[in-house]
Amino acid sequence: MTRVGFGFDLHPLAAGRPLVLGGVTVESDRGLAGHSDADVLSHAVGEALLGALALGDLGRHFPDTDPRYRGISSLRLLRSVVDLVTARGGRLVNVDATVLAQAPRLAPLLPEMAKRLADALGLETDRVSVKAKSPEGLGLVGRQEGMAAMAVVSVEVTA
Ligand code: MG
Repeated sequence: MTRVGFGFDLHPLAAGRPLVLGGVTVESDRGLAGHSDADVLSHAVGEALLGALALGDLGRHFPDTDPRYRGISSLRLLRSVVDLVTARGGRLVNVDATVLAQAPRLAPLLPEMAKRLADALGLETDRVSVKAKSPEGLGLVGRQEGMAAMAVVSVEVTA
């Protein structure tokens, strides 16, 4: 059986924070705020993976009240999510994700993000698609108040 999962995440931008997307630290005067490294792209992928098997969301598995997850690399959280999926007989097939950001320009960094996500997920790079979309100045992302990401995954389950 093939199952599909969808993930969405949104984080505010704040001064004095690194901007981490798909495990890549992006040069920027502001970064995303959150309890972990606030990697909105990795979080969307993780939410999608959990969603594929109806396992809830990242907040349920890695609560932001838990000091163990403070500042943690979200790629590490992703590896834990893959372990959860594997333990339930799931095998991740592919990922398709989009980051919604006004600035900086992300296009040159997308292949590296895909590679790091693929490494964390145990996938070949050609099974991970990362795209970026500009909101053309519209809305909260356009005003650079935050960034959002969406992802879909497919998971094969043999149980
Ligand atoms: Mg998040």
